[in-house]
Amino acid sequence: MKTILVVVGTRPEAIKLAPVILAIQKKSSHFKVKVCSTAQHRHILDPVLNLFQISPDIDLNLMQNNQSISDLTARAMVSLTQAIRSVAPDLVMVQGDTTTAMVAAMAAFYQRIPVAHIEAGLRTKNILNPFPEEMNRRVISVLGQFHFAPTVRAVNALVSEGVPKERVYLTGNTVIDALQLILQRSENQDLKVKVDERKIILVTAHRRESFGEPLQNICEALRLIASRNPDVHIVYSVHPNPSVQDPVRRNLLGKDNISLLDPLEYHFFVKLMNACYFILTDSGGIQEEGPALGKPVLVMREETERFEGIEAGASKLIGTQSETILAETEKLLRNFETYQQMAKAVSCYGDGTAAEKISNLLVELL
Ligand code: UDP
Repeated sequence: MKTILVVVGTRPEAIKLAPVILAIQKKSSHFKVKVCSTAQHRHILDPVLNLFQISPDIDLNLMQNNQSISDLTARAMVSLTQAIRSVAPDLVMVQGDTTTAMVAAMAAFYQRIPVAHIEAGLRTKNILNPFPEEMNRRVISVLGQFHFAPTVRAVNALVSEGVPKERVYLTGNTVIDALQLILQRSENQDLKVKVDERKIILVTAHRRESFGEPLQNICEALRLIASRNPDVHIVYSVHPNPSVQDPVRRNLLGKDNISLLDPLEYHFFVKLMNACYFILTDSGGIQEEGPALGKPVLVMREETERFEGIEAGASKLIGTQSETILAETEKLLRNFETYQQMAKAVSCYGDGTAAEKISNLLVELL
């Protein structure tokens, strides 16, 4: 019997690790599974764990207001070291590119415990964007033993950086597993916004790179889209971070066809993605979920590590200039042929079997 310690800190990590935790829990004759939450983002993380009925065995409760990356890293290193020592696992599992994931991998390495990395190999090739995530995921690739890559592009990125080929496994992205699990359940959820004949444009924008001028531009574009297109209903899930709340509320509150919502629990958000006409976002995970649902995604970022959706014609990188956001949005609204070309459901990020593949591989590997 091998013990696996799964470390989770933020909402996207919980969404993408939940199917893996459930899959390895099912292999109870092989694995004892322990879950450690750093609660890097407490308020939006816990509902995801509840949704998948996962209760952390260890809760490090690390979140503090206005925490700097260095401060979080230092406190996480001390707490995660103790947590790993107390569990003494055979494997530490991390996901993605957060500070939680990077520090857990480093803390495991210091104790000579192997690390499995879920969603390995995503790269923009610009270490400053996204910051610090591009560096975090590269560091994990150097520290890790088992690299579960979502796509062929990710496999190739890892191999080209010198990660041994035999340690890289193509699995698909576990976000598609999570999406499918929730879609099966979310049929009877209400939508949290009024649904009428207006087309819903679903919006999220809360990356660090978007703070300041880019977010100001995004708000300006949304204001123009709303006033020029009364047949549209903009629904924006607004992250609790004050760097997002303040400009968004200042610019968009009280507009007729703009609804500002608190972050939605995952099952509500999935329902809304399914009901919308298309998505405007700077999110990583939503770039994967949108194409799977046949919803065009306009990516309001300067760079992305998710090219597969763009190559498949399901998403488009449009930057953060307000004129471009307005023009690309209106093109999708007015040109039905362009819309239809983007609105084809594509499975470029996985087929919903990634967690199963990972759990089967772990039986062989451990
Ligand atoms: N999401 C959610 N509720 C919301 C907004 C997003 O559950 O109100 C989900 C979304 O479906 C996706 C994930 O959160 O799976 C993306 O999180 P985020 O954009 O914060 O992080 P990223 O994917 O960019 O790392």
